[in-house]
Order: sequence, then C-alpha cells, then structure tokens
Amino acid sequence: MSFPPSATPLPDVQRVLCVVAHPDDIDFGCAGTVARWVDEGIEVAYLLVTRGDAGGFDETPREQMPALREAEQRAAAAAIGVKQVDFLDGYADGTVTPSLALRRDIAAGIRRFRPDRVLTTSPLRRWERIAGPSHPDHLAVGEATTCAVYPDSRNPFAFPELLRDEGLAPWTVREVWYTAGPNADHVVDVTDTYPRKLAALRAHVSQTGHLETLDEMLRERMGLVARGLGLPAGRLAEAYTVISTG
Ligand SMILES: [Zn+2]
Repeated sequence: MSFPPSATPLPDVQRVLCVVAHPDDIDFGCAGTVARWVDEGIEVAYLLVTRGDAGGFDETPREQMPALREAEQRAAAAAIGVKQVDFLDGYADGTVTPSLALRRDIAAGIRRFRPDRVLTTSPLRRWERIAGPSHPDHLAVGEATTCAVYPDSRNPFAFPELLRDEGLAPWTVREVWYTAGPNADHVVDVTDTYPRKLAALRAHVSQTGHLETLDEMLRERMGLVARGLGLPAGRLAEAYTVISTG
C-alpha cells in the first residue's frame, strides 16, 4: 500500500494543527516546514498524544521523564515560533492504538483549533525503514488523526458529546500533510529555516544531547531528500504526501 501522488497544497491556509505521538516527532520530521509557515503568518499549534515517557536514556529517572520531555517540546516550539502546545492525557508512550477514545480526543482538538490543514505522521508503514518512521505509535496517531479528519470532526453525529457537553461545533479540515511515510513527493525547501530546526532539536536534550553529529546527520539526510526530489545541491528539504480531504 502506498500514497497517491500529492495534491497541490491549498493557497489560502490560515491555521495548521500538527498531531504527533511523541515530543521531537515534529522537530525531526517537519520543524523546518513549520518555521516557514510561521514566517508566512500561518497560525500553527501542536497536539501531542503522549509525553514520550518511554524515550530518553538511563540517567533520567523514569518518573521525571514526562515533565522533562513536555518542557523540552515547549522549548523546541518556541525556537520555531509556535506558541500553542497541547498534550493529551491518558496515553502512554509505546502503547498508542487508533482507538475510538483517541479519535474523539483528536477530533476535539481539531474542533477547538479549527485548522485548514492538519499535519500528522503517516499511517502507512515504510517497510524499508522499520525503525524510526514506522514506530507503531506514529502509525496509530496517523490513522486516528485521519479518522478524526474524516469523518469525526466534520460529522455532527460523531461523538455527539463533543457538541453537547463542550460546545465543539463540527469543523472540516480541507487538507492533510503526512510526514515519514512511503514515497513522499511534495518537497519543501527548508534551507533558510534549518538553523531553527536544529535549535529545536537541541532543545530535546534527553533525546539529542548524546548526538554529537546531529548537525551533520541532519544535513546529510535532508540533503538527500532535497536532491532526490529535484532541488539543487546544497539545499536541505523535508518531504510529505499532501492529501485533499474534500
Ligand atoms: Zn516518535
């Protein structure tokens, strides 16, 4: 299974909601693109499903990890220029499934923020890279978010308690961008915003503090993405599949 060719991105986007499983998912995959959107005047918010309590290394006591990683994500968002960072409660790192409860919680987030575009992780596995992009939490959040975009957030009869108890009216997201999936074909040149992406990733000290070659690793990886999708040598890129949900 693979994605179809990307749609042409919408020209009139004002609000984007990024929905991911763990602190650092946005920053590794998409922060250069998000920084460009912020610079264009688009309002961007993050919705994190977990606080990454299964990540990090042995020197940090486990019970301190959720608060530490939440703080790291907030610092990373500040480096990109994103002010709104929300975390769901009740989901543990490593155990996320595309459950009805998760669909309802993400649909609530969508109805609250009313984004034109949602960015999330691919629900399709990259068989050539099982580690990293195809973490089961990433696949689960991609699937639950896709279900929350259609039909849950736009259908008034889906999770009726959202409207009845919280006053959250139906909302139609018009476009979804998928990161970390197979055959991504929509390239974004992020050379100019790369320093902010690097700063954001360095804010995730518990995850990247030991990576002495982080800068070189990112430049190599993002340079390959750029050249693979036709950008000139010396450029850095992030890549997506863009799907119209109309
Ligand atoms: Zn992750």
